[in-house]
Amino acid sequence: MSARVDDLLDLESLLTPEDVELRRTVRRFGEQRLRPHIADWFESGQVPVRELATDFGKLGLLGMHLQGYGCGGSTATAYGLVCQELEAVDSGLRSLVSVQGSLAMFAIYRHGSEEQRQRWLPPMAAGEVIGCFGLTEPDFGSNPAGMRTTARRDGTDWILNGSKMWITNGSVADIAIVWARGEDGILGFVVPTDTPGFTARDMTQKLSLRASVTSELHLDEVRLPADAQLPAARGLSGPLACLSEARFGIVFGSVGAARDCLETTLDYVGTREVFDKPLAGYQITQTKIADMAVELSKAQLLALHLGRLKDNDAIRPEQVSVGKLNNVREALRIARECRTLLGANGVTLEYPVLRHANNLESVLTYEGTSEVHQLVIGQALTGQSAFR
Ligand code: FAD
Repeated sequence: MSARVDDLLDLESLLTPEDVELRRTVRRFGEQRLRPHIADWFESGQVPVRELATDFGKLGLLGMHLQGYGCGGSTATAYGLVCQELEAVDSGLRSLVSVQGSLAMFAIYRHGSEEQRQRWLPPMAAGEVIGCFGLTEPDFGSNPAGMRTTARRDGTDWILNGSKMWITNGSVADIAIVWARGEDGILGFVVPTDTPGFTARDMTQKLSLRASVTSELHLDEVRLPADAQLPAARGLSGPLACLSEARFGIVFGSVGAARDCLETTLDYVGTREVFDKPLAGYQITQTKIADMAVELSKAQLLALHLGRLKDNDAIRPEQVSVGKLNNVREALRIARECRTLLGANGVTLEYPVLRHANNLESVLTYEGTSEVHQLVIGQALTGQSAFR
């Protein structure tokens, strides 16, 4: 059943045997360990983040594309395929892995000192230490350069003040990567969340990514030793390098959500009878199915192409933007179209399609909104920045 959509263009032939095996393992894990619970986690808004982090750590999925420090050293494509299988279950579960590996761990890996890497990365890879990534503020989302959180020196210490909003895993994290404005620009810090003055509060009433913890962070005179600063992060390029990593995972992940919608729908229309015959036998249904399968296949090809570019160290930020913009936008369209084919059943949690569609609204917005990615691509092609 599950290979039918992939089979259309025989896309598996583009993968290595190792990638195929990894994909199979993670898909099995997703079906057995995650899918049976996901509707309840989504409905209750309660997800066992710590347990899941340990499971993901045991499978070697956290920071799997980083080298050394207990990380797997996999290809970018392999990491993308893992994101795809996790997001086929739920975008919130992929978010957990993305934030841990591509945002929090990558920030330390790329911008941290050797001591910081050795201290934090092995337990983070094992899922024993959970990280979050605090960039967005109440008044500064798409334009993080305007951030108001400050870092000031007091002797050799740093004092952080400010607040962050919409922070995935904020209230369950052991450490927060916090971006703050210093005298000479934006700086990054590793903040243990038990530091006096640090508080995190969950954001409730979300209609999207309900199987994911989202929090506000408050920093009130948080005093940190000098070695909490990420020494190689200077300016906005520090957090942006991390965002580019996480966006890459979304290029693949969103295809997983769309694939799950389409597979669910193919099963449904094969058995659901309307006007005395299966829904699958109507031309309108097949037009919808064909158009969705074509878009899904194109999105998968784009993801694999970007994976190869990244594996060759030849990927540019605007190329990641092409993938994030297209694949999330198309995944959302597919999820909504599938919802129509499921009729009233499509609005329940018995089927995953509206859950995926609701999740994809967040995915469309975080890691750069669609409009931000259009501006990135526009700037790359015209040479003119239209952000202001
Ligand atoms: P705004 O920036 O206010 O944008 C509003 C609208 O204006 C959008 O349509 C946008 O595209 C448009 N817009 C903005 N600038 C321009 C422009 N120059 N020209 C034209 N249109 C423009 N952040 C973190 O730091 N860490 C996290 O872990 C994290 N997790 C998240 C989890 C969830 C569930 C969600 C929903 C968000 C999360 N975010 C996180 C925040 C996310 O990155 C921001 O929401 C995103 O950057 C958009 O910012 P904003 O919501 O303030 O929207």
